[in-house]
Amino acid sequence: MAKYDYDLFTIGAGSGGVRASRVAASHGAKVAVAEEYRVGGTCVIRGCVPKKLLVYGAHFAEDLKDAKRFGWDVPDRCDFSWATLRDNVFEEVDRINSVYRETLTNHGAEIIDERAEVVGPHEVKLASGKTVTAKYILIATGATPHVPQCPGHELGITSNEAFHLDDVPKRILIAGAGYIANEFAGIFNEFGSTVTLINRTDVILRNYDHQIRDRLLQISMMKGIDFKFHAEFRGIEKTKNGCLSVSMTGHEDVEVDCVMFATGRVPNTGRLGLDKAGVTVDDKGAVVVDDWSKTDVDSIYAIGDVTNRMQLTPIAIREGQAFADTVFNDDPHQVDYENVPAAVFSHPPIAGVGMTESKAKETLGSVKVYTSDFRPMKNVLANRNERGLYKMICDGENGKIVGLHMIGPEAPEILQAAAVAVKAGLTKQAFDDTVALHPSMAEELVLMK
Ligand code: FAD
Repeated sequence: MAKYDYDLFTIGAGSGGVRASRVAASHGAKVAVAEEYRVGGTCVIRGCVPKKLLVYGAHFAEDLKDAKRFGWDVPDRCDFSWATLRDNVFEEVDRINSVYRETLTNHGAEIIDERAEVVGPHEVKLASGKTVTAKYILIATGATPHVPQCPGHELGITSNEAFHLDDVPKRILIAGAGYIANEFAGIFNEFGSTVTLINRTDVILRNYDHQIRDRLLQISMMKGIDFKFHAEFRGIEKTKNGCLSVSMTGHEDVEVDCVMFATGRVPNTGRLGLDKAGVTVDDKGAVVVDDWSKTDVDSIYAIGDVTNRMQLTPIAIREGQAFADTVFNDDPHQVDYENVPAAVFSHPPIAGVGMTESKAKETLGSVKVYTSDFRPMKNVLANRNERGLYKMICDGENGKIVGLHMIGPEAPEILQAAAVAVKAGLTKQAFDDTVALHPSMAEELVLMK
């Protein structure tokens, strides 16, 4: 008789949990994974994937306008059906959800469509009341939107609900200035909403390079997004005409049809029973783990957003892979968090890898900065007054690239390839030695001054 029901019990079938469960099962472990909502997790169901599809949909607003300059006979007003896009996105999400379920079952992992809580170092309790045991428990429960508890906060939505709206709001107020706030501000603005973005400080995208984020701010304002800075949320009230009136510090009240909170995401550790098992969480509610993703209970590990290391899908996936290989295949390896590329799918998008200019100056002292501030060829013909900006930060001592930051069309697609060079420790000289691919936007990478 086996000592435990399972070798591995994973709680949460998101990016990290699915990867860890599938790989552990392929290494021969008996695996079960519990999911309280939908297999695929945030990224597939209500994050990266549906968001990116909305970004594509939104971008047609600009493409259709620009098409005229390229000779196409496009009517001045093109109709857009939110319901069509939304439902097609749902279909795609359903398809990926099925693929994820199949992947797990094909590898022999059992899916349990229930909430699960930890009750001991080797014990998990399911919503149905059943208790199961496992040699190892993996916490992969992700994160959830944080909503400030101001009066009337229940009248607002978060990104979770944004995908399910009946219609595009005529006027939307978005609270927050991180990547989710800026992405949805761009999406709704392109769909014709009047967008107001409010933030406590006057800095958007705090962790991005200052010149790049300033460029986005300038372009977003040019496109009609209204930014209200140094605005602290006071509350939301429903008006007699069914609209929402938002009060904030430092500014007049704003009347809108929808309020969306994009005010950060908090680790999903509430009511998870971690205290019963002796697992430590920090003051933000994140599970505390070591470099092997192990908690301070030997049989319990945690990966992904719930550990609040880097809230990105590819990181959750790598943490899941490293955990499964280490524990179930005697192939110990850790995740390398150096030079992780990231993007903001705004209009235009931003992408970056490595240190920002200010971080590099603070860390290295001597740095050299090269830039290319250019108007993409397509924007010139389209009469679109939007400039791209690429920025390369190099170590002043040896010329090694320590940061690369971009804003402009297709920046994330271009940066992914360039990030390989940064990760490989190449220098500016290596870029200079590479012949430009002309005409392209990416050639600016090898022409920076
Ligand atoms: P998740 O994918 O969140 O999975 C956790 C799962 O656990 C969920 O399915 C949840 O239902 C389940 N669960 C929670 N508690 C329990 C329980 N007690 N019992 C059973 N199941 C439970 N990242 C990128 O890299 N690029 C992007 O462009 C990007 N865009 C994003 C856009 C939005 C709007 C959002 C919200 C996030 C975005 N992210 C993006 C972040 C990305 O989605 C997360 O980093 C990633 O999904 C984390 O994976 P995870 O496995 O840690 O958690």
